[in-house]
Amino acid sequence: MPSRESKFPPHKHCPVCAKAMAENLSLCSDKCNQSYTNRMKRQKKFNRLYYISFGAIFVIMIAVLLLGGL
Ligand SMILES: [Zn+2]
Repeated sequence: MPSRESKFPPHKHCPVCAKAMAENLSLCSDKCNQSYTNRMKRQKKFNRLYYISFGAIFVIMIAVLLLGGL
């Protein structure tokens, strides 16, 4: 059974709203572009928090190891 997809020209789907769009676009509209940017900003903030807390735990572990070894 032939795939129905092959009838469509090359396209991809918007990562925000999943609408079909031209392959050269990364997002379908300004609205999606904005919500994507907002999402990325939140993600970046979250990542920074994650690395900061990971770093803090690492420093505490080193301190505990050093103090325990003395
Ligand atoms: Zn979209």
